[in-house]
Amino acid sequence: MLGTNKSIFRRLIISYMLTIVVGIGIVGALMFYFANSYIYKTKQEELLRQGRTVNANIQETNIINEEKQDTLQFLDHSFDARLWVFNADGKIIATSTKDEVSIGKSVASSIVEKVIRGENAVNRLAFEGLTEPMLSVVVPWGKEDEVYGGIILHSPLIGLNTFVGKIRETILWAALFGILFSAAMVSYLSWTISRPLQQIDRAAAKVAMGNYVERIHLKSEDEIGDLANTINMMATKLEKTDFERQRIDTIRSDFLANISHELRTPLTSMQGFLEALQDGLIEEEGRKRYYDVMYDETIHMNRLVDDLMDLIKLENKDITLTKYLIDPLPILEKEKFKFEREASEKNVSINLITKEPLPKAYTDPVRFEQIINNILKNAVKFTEEGEITIVAEEDGQYLLLSVKDSGIGISELDLDLIWERFYKVDRGRSRKNKGTGLGLAIVKKLVELHEGKITVESQIGKGTTFKIWIPSFVE
Ligand code: ADP
Repeated sequence: MLGTNKSIFRRLIISYMLTIVVGIGIVGALMFYFANSYIYKTKQEELLRQGRTVNANIQETNIINEEKQDTLQFLDHSFDARLWVFNADGKIIATSTKDEVSIGKSVASSIVEKVIRGENAVNRLAFEGLTEPMLSVVVPWGKEDEVYGGIILHSPLIGLNTFVGKIRETILWAALFGILFSAAMVSYLSWTISRPLQQIDRAAAKVAMGNYVERIHLKSEDEIGDLANTINMMATKLEKTDFERQRIDTIRSDFLANISHELRTPLTSMQGFLEALQDGLIEEEGRKRYYDVMYDETIHMNRLVDDLMDLIKLENKDITLTKYLIDPLPILEKEKFKFEREASEKNVSINLITKEPLPKAYTDPVRFEQIINNILKNAVKFTEEGEITIVAEEDGQYLLLSVKDSGIGISELDLDLIWERFYKVDRGRSRKNKGTGLGLAIVKKLVELHEGKITVESQIGKGTTFKIWIPSFVE
């Protein structure tokens, strides 16, 4: 993965450098070309101007006498240009340097024709007898209405070439400096792009390995910064999901451990009893008690399975309530009656108080009964003496049921936990009081499904009061 970044870095550098080199090369070449032609053009124009001055000095007659010869020599020095004069036939008749070698030689006829027509000649001139490179121009010799021939001006190119060479050197140096400077800039730019990418790559690799706490710390607010933020958000989400998954795993394994525990206890006791019966260790008269206990255990296991099924359905929202407005009184009376015998065996009385006007309850009657049953069963189970009072009354738009007992009570520490599934305050309590630890979890879910509310208040040794609000209105 880091290789990708390296190659991005390389590709960036190569493409930038190519662009810069080509760009600077083209600009340099153009600059050199224009400077070059400007310099030569300027020099040519100067020579043409000087040629016209020479002509003005020797245009009186078509003869080059001693005096004109001196003038030519003088102008040669002042202009630093060699001067040749040729006649209408193209024959060189005089030179400023009294150079006998050139005198008598012919000038190309095309130049002669041009000059006779009164035009200047500047392009691609080549003359025999020139030992050093020269820039040459030809201007007509004579008057406006009478051209005698032409004047050739040669200016040594050495000085000019040196100057042009200097310009070329300067441009080359500037280009080299430009390339180096831009190479440094481009390297820095590429580095600022590839470095955060490497950082992102490293962090993303760690997240991929399961290290969800890893975050990318980038301050840039560009697209790379956005990418880092997105990856950070993704890591946060993964961290939360992972945490939630771990939590669910713990809940699930706790749940399974609880179920196993709840089933093992009755199964172990039944196994013990059955073994004793198999071994014929139990007298005929005592067997009934064994059968009774085993029967109780199967009832308990059945209840546990029923409760579990109920709770699972409730938690998966797999239960639909068939709600309608009902009179709660018959159900309350039925439940009171159901537990009265068990309570009276412990000398506990159950009172039902209804306060007028008793509102109706908007509920599923089967589930309503289940709620009252679970609460009342606990009240009877955990009360050894005294009384249990059920009060039904109106509270706003709700039917309020309070179930108050004078039982063992629940400590403050346990109060919040009793709604948890499988939670029992005293796990080692007597067989008589054994429960599934699921009753209140089911009640809570059912009340929530009714969009009602349930609270509990308790004092150790004094008793417990559960309050349940069930809507008495139709939504
Ligand atoms: P269980 O099947 O054990 O009764 P519940 O979920 O119905 O399970 O109740 C959870 C725990 O709350 C009980 O084990 C008990 O310790 C405590 N509890 C519930 N109701 C009462 C009550 N009326 N008085 C004292 N403790 C209670």
